[in-house]
Amino acid sequence: MPGSHYQVTTPRLHHSVYSLTDSSDIGPDDEDLDARPSLTPLERLSGDMCKNKNTIKDLMIGRRVGFYKVRGEIGCGTFSRVKLAFHALTKDKVAMKILDKTRMDTQVQRLLSREISSMEVLRNPNVLHLYEVVETPSRLHLVLEYAGGGDLHNKICNEGKLSDDTSKITFAQILSAIKYMHNANVIHRDLKAENVLFTSSGCVKVADFGFSTRISNHNDFLDTFCGSPPYAAPELFRDECYLGPPVDVWAMGVLLFFMVTGSMPFRADTMGKLRRSIISGAYSIPPWVPGPCQRLIKGILKPEPSERHVIDQMLGCDWLLPVEFPWSLVPSEPAGPLHSLIESDWGELEEEAEVRNQMEELGFTAEHLQNNQLKDCRNPVTGVYRILLHQAQKRRGCDSLPVVRGMVRDPKREGLRAYRGLRHTSKLCVLS
Ligand code: ATP
Ligand code: MG
Repeated sequence: MPGSHYQVTTPRLHHSVYSLTDSSDIGPDDEDLDARPSLTPLERLSGDMCKNKNTIKDLMIGRRVGFYKVRGEIGCGTFSRVKLAFHALTKDKVAMKILDKTRMDTQVQRLLSREISSMEVLRNPNVLHLYEVVETPSRLHLVLEYAGGGDLHNKICNEGKLSDDTSKITFAQILSAIKYMHNANVIHRDLKAENVLFTSSGCVKVADFGFSTRISNHNDFLDTFCGSPPYAAPELFRDECYLGPPVDVWAMGVLLFFMVTGSMPFRADTMGKLRRSIISGAYSIPPWVPGPCQRLIKGILKPEPSERHVIDQMLGCDWLLPVEFPWSLVPSEPAGPLHSLIESDWGELEEEAEVRNQMEELGFTAEHLQNNQLKDCRNPVTGVYRILLHQAQKRRGCDSLPVVRGMVRDPKREGLRAYRGLRHTSKLCVLS
């Protein structure tokens, strides 16, 4: 069990936001503020949050949360509503997962702590980024990277099974995310098509870490039944306790089956029948699924966890041979804590210098950075830093897709191909 879970704390009002700027910096009212071009965007925003009636009203009714302007609903989960939001300073689009604190019992609080704690240690292009957590008296807001391309479940339900190449590209990215996660000792435990999101350019983002857990090593036994029954490994129904990595691997097998066939391997009209069918491992793969993909599915969906493929076997399988993996596979070890703008040497990450300049232009001083250390996700300065850093990384191509060798280039998507580290400019590629 992780020792550093975030707790759902007592309400913290917006003071941390106001206190970003010394009150002497703030003009008397909005008109005056706008008339003073010497004010930085941060000073203007902080002024509005203290003095502007409309901004204060928006903050009170939830149309603004911290530095974010909140817009319409884009999703709904068991425990949350997800809304589109914009950062008032950077103008970036984000997804805001909103949880009502009055309806949170201790179990939901624990799940939320895990969600935050797991997301905090993961920085990978195929794992949804957590930028900031904003707490108001009645709600908790997880500010997340926006995935505008919908989820895999809806995609398959609306458009049918994926082509073999699109399946390869999608699965390769899920594999990349899970390899990274397991290396960081995080087990997802709720992998399902609904939790595989896409950006508008088709990059996979594994989301929803509410059932995730952090282990100290891969031999740690777990004992909580988590996840969605059709994706649950047989040992979850059968045994008292289970190992984490094989459970995620099994769910990936179910996902892969769903992607290439458009149907689930284990289906039943009652939970008892579903359980029996999963434990017996009885499923059949349609004959038109290519042989290498069939072999991969069979290697994954083995009822005995010890006989099941491990991630590296999946990476090396014949089916994925033509896939040139994205550079996200290169940093397969967790990077450790985020680089800090104040302590790092600036040559280390090109993006950091860029982000520091942008933050200065917005009005963040060395003192703001010094005080906030950029490690506390409940701090608005951290939110700005993470959003800008991620934008800079995206400009350098970190969200680009893997390629399948030998496929026809799609000229409409060619802009996606230019980024560092992946030597595929001369390759042919396919994008869904
Ligand atoms: P459940 O446990 O029922 O899966 P949840 O309360 O944990 O739900 P999520 O799965 O995280 O919530 O989100 C619910 C839905 O909101 C997702 O299925 C997706 O459609 C949408 N959604 C969540 N996060 C994002 C995001 N970052 N970008 C776009 N849409 C999102
Ligand atoms: Mg979900």
